[in-house]
Amino acid sequence: RSTASTAARIDALLRPEIRALSAYHVPPAAGLLKLDAMENPYPWPGGLEEEWLAGLRGVELNRYPLPHPAELVQALARQAGVPPGCGLLLGNGSDELIQLIDICLARPGASVLLPTPTFSMYSLIARVAGLGVIDVPLRADFGLDLPAMRAAIERHQPALIYLACPNNPTAGLFDPAELRALIGAAPGLVVVDEAYFPFAGRSVLPWLLEFNHLLVLRTLSKVGLAGLRLGYLIGHPDWLAQFDKARLPYNINTLTQLSAQFALAHADRLAGEAARICEQRHRLSQELKALPGVTVYPSDANFILLRLPPGQAPAAHGALQQAGILVKNVHGGHPLLTDCLRVTVGTAAENEALLAALRAHLTGTV
Ligand code: PMP
Repeated sequence: RSTASTAARIDALLRPEIRALSAYHVPPAAGLLKLDAMENPYPWPGGLEEEWLAGLRGVELNRYPLPHPAELVQALARQAGVPPGCGLLLGNGSDELIQLIDICLARPGASVLLPTPTFSMYSLIARVAGLGVIDVPLRADFGLDLPAMRAAIERHQPALIYLACPNNPTAGLFDPAELRALIGAAPGLVVVDEAYFPFAGRSVLPWLLEFNHLLVLRTLSKVGLAGLRLGYLIGHPDWLAQFDKARLPYNINTLTQLSAQFALAHADRLAGEAARICEQRHRLSQELKALPGVTVYPSDANFILLRLPPGQAPAAHGALQQAGILVKNVHGGHPLLTDCLRVTVGTAAENEALLAALRAHLTGTV
């Protein structure tokens, strides 16, 4: 078992794009207050958890899951308000749907256009699929740079554009007129990723009736069901039928199917929690703004992007971790994110803990 011969064989066989990648890193979080991954902070109340577990009793785990769980699809479509004539395709998280789309569109020479900074999986998955990646920086206020995007479209004719709306990690929505203009100018497919829709309240779903080259991506991950891994893609059935060919037959496991259906039957609970998170977002933003030297960007999502005084982000990230709180240090990830941290909105108590620790670090008081 020689290491040298393994390395030689990897070099000889592996696609160079894969060799050049770094794996998606999830930092260890054991024992820490987890405010780095935009999860919903509320566990299910006791009674509801009992009911859910009772519903799983007798499940036949010896059988494969339903390949097309029609009832679940209907429940999701009803809840989302899918426009008439549009279909819905399920994925093992929205990440899997991004992967499916990318694999299907990765003709030789095809590329994806991304306004950056944005969700890091768009470029990772594109590279794995063999697509070229074209980055166009957002404006300094994190809006779309429409002239630069148009120029990139002219030059590269991208097969695909991903627009996260609200965007991660900048947290805001894009201006609707600019978004619309960009969709209109796109020569290929446009995917508007509405992972944070429950906290934004504004959607492009009605535009599906006008644009056959538009698809909308949603997920249950941000509303309290990240552990289930269920995302869905909404759009013209002809597109979805093509992607469905590349989907693995049983991509949504039985426990996810049943649990998601149960959760959707209690959708009022999910909506109530999203509303509580929006209230907390407002309070946390106000309090963060009061900290010395901190800039807080407007958020339409369940997280907040903040900018610290120059050079402070790595130390603040470390100090928070010392205090038992995990947030995301996005400093260094993109020139527009210099000195920035991204924090998930938690419960009132969690947000208090975050504020106290950050205040102590920035003011030098313990
Ligand atoms: N889209 C965006 C914009 C995200 O920020 C995330 C999660 N960080 C996802 C998609 C991934 O969602 P899922 O858990 O459904 O794969």
